[in-house]
Amino acid sequence: AAEEGFDLEDVEGAIEAAGHGPLPVLAVVGRPNVGKSTLVNRIIGRREAVVEDRPGVTRDRVTYEAEWAGRRFKVVDTGGWEQDVLGIDASVAAQAEYAIEAADAVVFVVDAKVGATDTDEAVVRLLRKAGKPVVLCANKVDGPSGEADAAYLWSLGLGEPYPVSALHGRGTGDMLDKVLEVLPDAPAQTFGTAVGGPRRVALIGRPNVGKSSLLNKVAGEERVVVNELAGTTRDPVDELIELGGRTWKFVDTAGIRKRVHLQQGADYYASLRTAAAVEKAEVAVVLIDASESISVQDQRIVTMAVEAGRALVLAFNKWDTLDEERRYYLEREIETELGQVAWAPRVNVSARTGRHMEKLVPAIETALAGWETRVPTGRLNAFLGELVAAHPHPIRGGKQPRILFGTQAGTKPPRFVLFATGFIEAGYRRFIERRLREEFGFEGTPIHLSVRVRE
Ligand code: GDP
Ligand code: GDP
Repeated sequence: AAEEGFDLEDVEGAIEAAGHGPLPVLAVVGRPNVGKSTLVNRIIGRREAVVEDRPGVTRDRVTYEAEWAGRRFKVVDTGGWEQDVLGIDASVAAQAEYAIEAADAVVFVVDAKVGATDTDEAVVRLLRKAGKPVVLCANKVDGPSGEADAAYLWSLGLGEPYPVSALHGRGTGDMLDKVLEVLPDAPAQTFGTAVGGPRRVALIGRPNVGKSSLLNKVAGEERVVVNELAGTTRDPVDELIELGGRTWKFVDTAGIRKRVHLQQGADYYASLRTAAAVEKAEVAVVLIDASESISVQDQRIVTMAVEAGRALVLAFNKWDTLDEERRYYLEREIETELGQVAWAPRVNVSARTGRHMEKLVPAIETALAGWETRVPTGRLNAFLGELVAAHPHPIRGGKQPRILFGTQAGTKPPRFVLFATGFIEAGYRRFIERRLREEFGFEGTPIHLSVRVRE
């Protein structure tokens, strides 16, 4: 490495930065207008720009990557609102509940100028029940004169209120230091399970694709639809299900069962719930209604799983209803609408008839295996060497950027760092990803490629 112009520290730094496993999740919750979005922007504004190649896909983000004091984590933004759907208290409760469920730590934002309201108190009760670490952000303290307002929030019983001005940045550093103190290094609930413990599966998809039916089918029993208001029930959200001779943890099945409540126009909550389930899972099974055209919403859900870096299986449901014509058009739609995840194993099922249920587990296992694949550095560099020799990067401005070497910095999903003499174009990065897949498999997993350019 040294004679190629990278010093060892560069290389090690790049590998470490790229090599993280799944990141811990911080949820920012609170009433509308207390400044959550402003705070989230401030937190993620610190993020280092990383050259990454993830082919263009629709974004519908609720989670963002952030970095503070050299540590990376995810932030769940709960700033999106559909208050009138449920009424203010229920909205806040539902939003907070979903976000807290997926989180390893929570920043609870209160408007210090307004003080604690009844709605704030309700969220405090949810936070207590959840038992996750909480940092209390007393926002809108724009100057020293506001500090007294912040002190009043001791009354919430959540410990020290951190006076912050999300708008101007005042106090956010101290608050984030505290956040890092309470935030675990890895997402404990997702990956803290003992080796050999049940793998975590998120069954996701837009309303009416058949999630609940599929869950009932695989679990072999009819379930009750819990029709109570989110935030008022505390039923187990995850479920252990025996399938294919193994026990699997289906995460957030309560969310599937609560769909009646969720369907009342609250797309935003559905989105948050999906993001929460994905964060908790290792593999996402995205269920798609094969009888209907693949929609933007289907694509968004797929994108969510991919961007979260989870293993992915596509399950096309309601196969029993398909005629020959629909089957033909479906194949075309899959090519055009889901081409970016052509690497995902696919099963064609019917939750109604039980068709191909037995193919679900092998598909999940394949995806998890791809997700955990590690390519030895020697093999990777032999492959890269041949590839670069046979297909050099196009010459740009009289120069030809060259990939010197690479390494796999991490798994779950596989993350590669390539070291190069110049800027590597997106098209060439996609080409490398494609060839990596041809060579090493990686079925069912996104791949992250980052490129470090020699200074
Ligand atoms: P959210 O609904 O909780 O996401 O709140 P927003 O982030 O959208 O902020 C609501 C309003 O409060 C906006 O007009 C912000 O500019 C304002 N705001 C947010 N943070 C601060 C702050 O620290 N000080 C002041 N004075 N205003 C703020
Ligand atoms: P969810 O909203 O994704 O949980 O969807 P549901 O499980 O509630 O299913 C929505 C509708 O699709 C219900 O009327 C189901 O009976 C129907 N359905 C689910 N799976 C199948 C299937 O494989 N074939 C057919 N024909 N209908 C299905």
